[in-house]
Amino acid sequence: MSDGGATRERPTSVLVVEDDALQRRVLCKRLAASGVATVLEAEHGIEALAVLAAHPDVEVVVSDLAMPEMDGLDLLCAMATLPSKASFVPHSAMDRQLLACMELMAKERGMSFLGILEKPATVDDIQRVVRRPEPKERPSRETLVFSHDELKEGLALGQFVPYFQPKVSMKDGAIRGAEALARWVHPRYGVLPPGVFIDTMEQTGLIGSLTQIILEKSIRAARTWNDLGRSMSVSVNLSFSFLSTPGVADSITRLTRGSGLAPERLILEITENVAMADAGICLENIARLKVRGYRLSIDDFGVGYSSLQQLLRIPFDEIKIDRSFVSGVKALSRSATMLEATLGMAQCLDMVSVAEGIETREEWDFLASIGTALAQGYFVSRPISGDDLEAGLRAGTAWVPPR
Ligand code: C2E
Ligand code: MG
Ligand code: MG
Repeated sequence: MSDGGATRERPTSVLVVEDDALQRRVLCKRLAASGVATVLEAEHGIEALAVLAAHPDVEVVVSDLAMPEMDGLDLLCAMATLPSKASFVPHSAMDRQLLACMELMAKERGMSFLGILEKPATVDDIQRVVRRPEPKERPSRETLVFSHDELKEGLALGQFVPYFQPKVSMKDGAIRGAEALARWVHPRYGVLPPGVFIDTMEQTGLIGSLTQIILEKSIRAARTWNDLGRSMSVSVNLSFSFLSTPGVADSITRLTRGSGLAPERLILEITENVAMADAGICLENIARLKVRGYRLSIDDFGVGYSSLQQLLRIPFDEIKIDRSFVSGVKALSRSATMLEATLGMAQCLDMVSVAEGIETREEWDFLASIGTALAQGYFVSRPISGDDLEAGLRAGTAWVPPR
C-alpha cells in the first residue's frame, strides 16, 4: 500500500501517555516539532482517561504499553467505551506481533488505528504514523443492501457479468489466465462488487443462477482468448453451497463441452465460506470435476476454513495464498516465514502457487524471490471488463509495469 503518510494532515491535538518522565518529555517535543499544535501528557492510563474527559477534542492518543497504573491495553479497552473518537497509537519496544495483536483488538472494538510507533520514535516515524484519523466511514456502496427480489430482477435483466483480473507468471510477466469476479452493472449505482450481493444470494438460493451466468460468460471469454492464440485459463469462484447442489458437475461439463474450451483451461476456485452444507454431494461433485480434467484451486488459503484439512481431502491443483499474508510482507517477518513454508508445501504437493492481492513492487519482488509461480493483484491489474481484457490481449498489453 502506498504510504502517503508524510503528506497527510497532522492532528491538532495529541495526548502522550508514558510513565517514564524523560521519554515522555522527548516524545512531546518531537510531536511538537512535527507540527502538532497541542500536546497533552499523562503518566498512566487513569490520568489519560481524565485528560480525555476534559479534552474531548483529542484526536490521537500515543501510549506506552507497560505502565504501572493501568497499562496501555486497559487504556485501549477503556477508550473504546468513550464517546471520544481518538485513535490509539501504541508506542513501545515490544514485539511487533503483540503490537499487531493490539491493532486487531482496536479494530474489533470499532476504533481507528493509525499504526505503531516503535521506541524510540523519531520525528520521521511520528510524521509517518501520527496523523488525523479518517472521519468515521461515510455510507458507501459497500453498505447498500438489496433484497432477494431486487437481486432476482437484476439477474433476469442480465445485469450480472464477470470482470476479469489477470494472473501472470512471476518469472516473465506473461499472462497465464484471469479470475472471473462477479459484478452487478447496476443502472443506478454503477458497477457493484460481490460484497453487496454475494451473501444475500447465498442465503436466498440465488447463488446457483449467478454462478451459472458467470460460468457461461467466463467460458465463452476464455474460448475467445484461446482463439486469439493465448493459452490462458479462466478461474471461476464456486461456493460450497453451490457445489452442494446435485448435478452441478454435469451442468459444468455440459457448458464447457458446448463451448469447445478444454477442461484444463477452467479452474474452479473453492472457498469454504459456509459450513459445508452437504459434504457428501459436495465432495462427489468435486471428484467428478477432477476426474473430467477440470482444475481445482483452494481460494483464500490460510484463512477461515481454507485450511490444511481441505488439502488433505480434496486434490487441489492450485493454491491461492490469501492477501492477508501478502500485504506488506517483508523478508524475515512472520508472514514471510509462513509464505515460504506454504510455497514449500505447494511444491511438494505439486500445486501451482498464486499470490493474491499483490499491490506493490516490494511485495512482488519478495514473492518472486521465494519462488511464487503466479501473481494476481492491483500491482498487475485491477479486475477489468471482458471487453477491456480482450482489447488488451489484442493490443499485446504488458500487464506488469516495467521496473
Ligand atoms: P476472491 O475470490 O478471493 O477474489 C479476490 C478479491 O480480491 C476480489 O475482490 C479482487 O477484486 C480483490 N483483489 C484483487 N487484487 C487485489 C489487491 O491487490 N488489493 C486488494 N485490496 N484487493 C484485491 P472482489 O471482486 O470484491 O470479490 C470478493 C470475493 O467475492 C471473491 O474473493 C470471491 O470469494 C467472491 N466472488 C466473486 N465472484 C464470485 C462468484 O461469481 N461466485 C462466488 N461464489 N463468489 C464470488
Ligand atoms: Mg477467488
Ligand atoms: Mg481469494
